[in-house]
Amino acid sequence: MRNVIVTGAGSGIGFAVAEKLAGLGYNVVLNDYDADAAQAAAAKIGGLAVQGDVSDEADVARMVEACTAEFGAPTHLVNNAGHVHQARFTDLSVADFDRMISVHLRGTFLCTRAVLPAMIASGSGCVVNMASQLGQIGGIELVHYSAAKAGIIGMTKALAREVSTQGVRVNAVAPGPINTPLVRALSDDWRAAKAAELPLGHFGEPEDVAETVAFLCSDAARIYVGQTLSPNSGDVML
Ligand code: ADP
Repeated sequence: MRNVIVTGAGSGIGFAVAEKLAGLGYNVVLNDYDADAAQAAAAKIGGLAVQGDVSDEADVARMVEACTAEFGAPTHLVNNAGHVHQARFTDLSVADFDRMISVHLRGTFLCTRAVLPAMIASGSGCVVNMASQLGQIGGIELVHYSAAKAGIIGMTKALAREVSTQGVRVNAVAPGPINTPLVRALSDDWRAAKAAELPLGHFGEPEDVAETVAFLCSDAARIYVGQTLSPNSGDVML
C-alpha cells in the first residue's frame, strides 16, 4: 500500500506529480491552500482533496489525519507547495520575506515532521522536496525565493543523513525552466530567448518533473539519499 500526500497539488507541477503517482496506483491526498483547486484536481484524477496551509501546524495535522483515516498512514510525502514572488532586494518587505520562508521552509518542516514518526515506526518511507535550480544558482530579484529553495536543499541533506538509517529516504528535485502556468504567462519573446539559451532548446513540462519525483518515490531509487536531481534541459550542470 503506497499512500502519498502531495502538497500544492492544485496546479502546475504539484498537480502533474499527483496525476503521475495516481496513475502508478498510489493512493493520493491532494493538498492545496486553494480549496477549489484541490477539489478540481481530485475530481480529475481521483484521490482525496484536503484544503490546508502547509505552514499551519493544525492544518498539517488535519491533513495527515485525513490521509490516515482514508487510506492509512502516509508512506510517501511530496513537499511541493510554494509560491513565487519577484522583487528587488531593496524593495522586499519583511512580510514578503517571512511568507516566502514560512511556506517553503516551515511548511516542509511541518509536513515532514507530521509524517516521519509513522514512517520510522514502519521502517520505510520516502520524502521528496521540491527545490528549484534557483536555490542552487540564485535567481534575479528572487533573493527570498532562492534562499528558501536553497534551505530546502539543506534540509533535505541533513534530514536524509538522520533518517536514512531508519529506512526513510529523503531527496529533492530542483527543476530548471518548466512550462508552468506562471511561465506560460510571461511574454513569448522572453520564453523564446530563454529556450534558445538551453542546451536542449526547450523548456521542460510539469510531467517531466513528475517523472523525476516518481522515480525518487520508487524502489528503483532505493539507493538515492539526500540527492537533488535537476530536470532542467541542461540549463545548469552542477
Ligand atoms: P508551479 O507552477 O511551480 O507548480 P504553482 O503556483 O502552480 O507553482 O503551484 C503551487 C501550488 O501550491 C498552488 O496550487 C498553490 O495554491 C499552492 N500553495 C501555495 N501556498 C500554499 C500553502 N501555504 N499551503 C498549501 N498550498 C499552497
